[in-house]
Amino acid sequence: MFDRALAVIPGGVSSPVRAFNAVGGTPRFFASARGAWLTDVDGNDYVDLVCSWGPMLLGHAHPEVQAAVQDAVARGTSFGAPTVPEVELAEEIVARTPVEQVRFVSSGTEATMSAIRLARGVTGRDVVVKFAGCYHGHADALLASAGSGLLTSAVPGTPGVPTSSTELTIVLPYNDRAAVEATFAEHGDRIACLITEAAPGNMGVVPPEPGFNAFLAEICRRHGALFVSDEVMTGFRASRQGQWGLDGAREGWVPDLMTFGKVMGGGLPAAAFGGSADVMGHLSPSGPVYQAGTLSGNPVATTAGLATLRLATDEVYAHLDAVADTIRTAASDALDGAGVAHRVQCTGTMFSIFFSDTPARDFATASTTDVAAYAAFFHAMLDGGVYLPPSAYEAWFVSAAHDDRAVQTVLDALPAAARAAAHAQEA
Ligand SMILES: *Cc1c(COP(=O)(O)O)cnc(C)c1O
Repeated sequence: MFDRALAVIPGGVSSPVRAFNAVGGTPRFFASARGAWLTDVDGNDYVDLVCSWGPMLLGHAHPEVQAAVQDAVARGTSFGAPTVPEVELAEEIVARTPVEQVRFVSSGTEATMSAIRLARGVTGRDVVVKFAGCYHGHADALLASAGSGLLTSAVPGTPGVPTSSTELTIVLPYNDRAAVEATFAEHGDRIACLITEAAPGNMGVVPPEPGFNAFLAEICRRHGALFVSDEVMTGFRASRQGQWGLDGAREGWVPDLMTFGKVMGGGLPAAAFGGSADVMGHLSPSGPVYQAGTLSGNPVATTAGLATLRLATDEVYAHLDAVADTIRTAASDALDGAGVAHRVQCTGTMFSIFFSDTPARDFATASTTDVAAYAAFFHAMLDGGVYLPPSAYEAWFVSAAHDDRAVQTVLDALPAAARAAAHAQEA
């Protein structure tokens, strides 16, 4: 299958991180999945700790989600006109988060791209501030790397992005209050918005230091910039109310705009951005800022998301917490036993393991992880029937369907994987 894929799809994959470039070897092609388990085209079963990079909060092929989707499909798959499920999903998101209105799109990339356009339209300013290591999808302005100095324009993060697309972006080190303060002091009246992952999960899990999001919200408010909290990964995943539920509710801050994706689509393509009715009122057709989408709010996708969120009760999050804790603890014990330096980092039910003894607080420190040790660990886990993210810089995800048998499979695979990581470090 991989040979066939390589002939007709660049790199054989539809999104780069699916390839095994970071760990070596051949990507598995999956034929089906149920609960916590994936089955590849050769009939091998794996416990899934990727969960489609987050969306499969309830596990694969959840019977009630499946039934809701099948009903929706039977009624027709797209109308290009308003439907009931999109209104109900919007109500569910508004009930769980501080946003008052949402606009649906089809991917997290579109959500952040559109949120930034709206922020620029609302403020009449152009500059966007982001953090190194935070991923917000692949819109040009956000595929940016830090420029030569802290206060200077970013540079394109990939060929194909013109310099003109990143010269209005400033990239700062995460968790660095002094850098944020200096940037706002210098450029405050030109900054339309600051966008951050509510808790970064795309450089491995790097939690915000206590009060960091509140600090960002406050400095944006003081300078008339909008604070955009990207919860595409953390939303309805880190906790019932996402990362905002873990620190925003407690610390008393509210983002001006939030972006959602992954879990809210229940495994189908749905994403959204939202904010106060006042800010969202600038969006067409209510206001002048243009944004649109042929399949936005698609009835099948919003039905899957709605069924998923309705089934994501407090008990589900308690289960996710318990399973994540069991796996984290066992992984850490196994790595200790094999003498492998590591740090377990988590935010709510999301976690990752850095193969380094340096705490990861930003992209530079996250990059100290030993990728060769991770690759050895990854392949030993795969041999033990566990599918981990094929990259050292990704969060691990569990689901409501991770039961004792699935967890035991993970625990059984850990000691050999820890020894493989130790061997890789000695080599
Ligand atoms: C996955 C992700 C995105 C991009 O979402 P896509 O649906 O892949 O375009 C944006 N922001 C964050 C924080 C993400 O984790």
